[in-house]
Amino acid sequence: MSSAVRHQSELMPGKPEPQILEYQTQQYKLLPHIASVFAILFSASSVLRMQRIVAASISKGNVELLPELHILSCAMKALSSQDSTQGIETCRLACGGHGYIASSGLPSLYTSTTCTITYEGENTVLLLQVARYLIKSYRAGLKGLPVLPSVMYLTAPPAMHQSPPLSNQALIEAFRISSANLVKETESRLCRQFNLEQNFYYAWNHCSVALVHCAELHSRYYMCEKFLSTVESIRASDRVRSVLQDLCRLYLIHHTTLNQGHFLRSGTLSGADLSTLEEEMYELLAKLRPQAVPLVDAFDFQDELLGSTLGAWDGRVYERLYEEAQKSPLNKTDVSKAYHKYLQPLMKSNL
Ligand SMILES: Cc1cc2nc3c(=O)[nH]c(=O)nc-3n(C[C@H](O)[C@H](O)[C@H](O)COP(=O)(O)OP(=O)(O)OC[C@H]3O[C@@H](n4cnc5c(N)ncnc54)[C@H](O)[C@@H]3O)c2cc1C
Repeated sequence: MSSAVRHQSELMPGKPEPQILEYQTQQYKLLPHIASVFAILFSASSVLRMQRIVAASISKGNVELLPELHILSCAMKALSSQDSTQGIETCRLACGGHGYIASSGLPSLYTSTTCTITYEGENTVLLLQVARYLIKSYRAGLKGLPVLPSVMYLTAPPAMHQSPPLSNQALIEAFRISSANLVKETESRLCRQFNLEQNFYYAWNHCSVALVHCAELHSRYYMCEKFLSTVESIRASDRVRSVLQDLCRLYLIHHTTLNQGHFLRSGTLSGADLSTLEEEMYELLAKLRPQAVPLVDAFDFQDELLGSTLGAWDGRVYERLYEEAQKSPLNKTDVSKAYHKYLQPLMKSNL
């Protein structure tokens, strides 16, 4: 809201100050996080569906899919807590000085969210559990043993579709191949280290940064895939579907560019491909800019819940900030008593 209300600086010399949301850098800060909300929502729905399937199987005495649910929950907990914490901090910084004011609600929102990285399973520890599952499944797959559905791609890549280059489907395939490639590379590193150290635990610790990267890329691939498959099958009006498709495209390109090192290493994308994708991302930011306020309104958070002078239904940001500032005891009088009592005599003395 603050980005739509605040006007600052000049986009064109001599022209009036624009809403700060007109700046591409501001759009880049905010719009990928709006897309992220939908990625988390759709991935969470998928995990919940799996939870129901697993619960039904367990009631029949079949626990085969339990590790799959455990690992998916670890992966989604780690990425969603990390993404939402980063998102809140980015939004806070995107408000400039106002983001530091307690009445913006953003500092308290940040502190009540960042702890999700630590509790209910510390994120690094959870990601290492995901990595252990990836390595175990990769090794099982190489030996021809059965592996569960979400990790089959590690050793048995599905047939490549003839997807148009850089299409959504092509990006998902690039994610899948890059993730499999990273697991393969890390497993080789783990074997080499084990041969040197003759101790699995030391070798594991030596490779743990790479292992966390494997878990992050696999988890991001899952989120991208769920975002795309949901948007492709969602029942919504043409206009709503069109906005969701743009958000999904933005999410895929954004995370492809953030992970570009993995794509270049696996040879799935070239420097020229990444440059083309970046150009498309900038166009998407401009296209989605008019949707920013309606999308955030659609979350339907009530003012009482947000408790923010910056994020309120009526956009009266400055009036609310002023009203809130008036509540401070320091603002009860125009000039503080302390001035008359201590500063004025000092300033009028002949020191
Ligand atoms: C706000 C809040 C509320 C909480 N509420 C509850 C509650 O209601 N009930 C409850 O029981 N607990 C609660 N906790 C505790 C929480 O579950 C633990 O803090 C959490 O599990 C992390 O454990 P720890 O604090 O011992 O950190 P540590 O495990 O000591 O982690 C410290 C650092 O060591 C790293 N580390 C630890 N182990 C490994 C490893 N094997 N490999 C690599 N790195 C590792 C971590 O990544 C982290 O960087 C709460 C915590 C917070 C912050």
